[in-house]
Amino acid sequence: MGLLSSLFGGENTKAPSPPPRPSYAGVKLHPAIDNGFPPAAPGFSGGTLTCRCSSNPVNVKVSAQVAHNHACGCTKCWKPKGAIFSQIAVVSRDKVEVISGADKLAVVDPAAAIQRHACKDCGVHMFGRIENTEHPFYGLDFVHTELSTEKGWAPPEFAAFVSSVIESGVDPSRMDGIRGRLRELGLEPYDALSPPLMDAIATHVAKKSGALH
Ligand SMILES: [Zn+2]
Ligand SMILES: [Zn+2]
Repeated sequence: MGLLSSLFGGENTKAPSPPPRPSYAGVKLHPAIDNGFPPAAPGFSGGTLTCRCSSNPVNVKVSAQVAHNHACGCTKCWKPKGAIFSQIAVVSRDKVEVISGADKLAVVDPAAAIQRHACKDCGVHMFGRIENTEHPFYGLDFVHTELSTEKGWAPPEFAAFVSSVIESGVDPSRMDGIRGRLRELGLEPYDALSPPLMDAIATHVAKKSGALH
């Protein structure tokens, strides 16, 4: 018996097989995310978001593909009933137009950085807009593509503010399963925004302070 085999238990010892990878498929996050999602359609140029009112719905035309679509665990974004995440993306504000039901819209919290314009009757947030021209994301509106029947929207790419779902009442013991399911779906979980978006915010701040030119 050589030194190596005496240290490692002999030449014929088989490496233990890895434990089966757990599946978190039973963990429900959001109806548009739970069963996976198709890739963006090439050349897709937008669609119409419709609120959930059965009569006189609010319609918002989005005339471009969205970017940075993601699952969001914050307590401010609108979520469908029972969902613990929202699904939210950004698009240039000049591509967002209310085409009907404007009189039914009201800003949820006028003091918030993102002014979420919601239908007063069904509560759905139709778009979130930043009015502060100094804000890093000024010029971008926040929209929920699931409110559109068109197919081809950019799918979610990551999950933001994941720990914040606890603030909505999710038991902390569920977090391993929630993060596991997000990873299974290819949505890397972050407890703030994704690194490219955090970098964009920091770059904006650094340019304002003069630390970057
Ligand atoms: Zn409505
Ligand atoms: Zn959010």
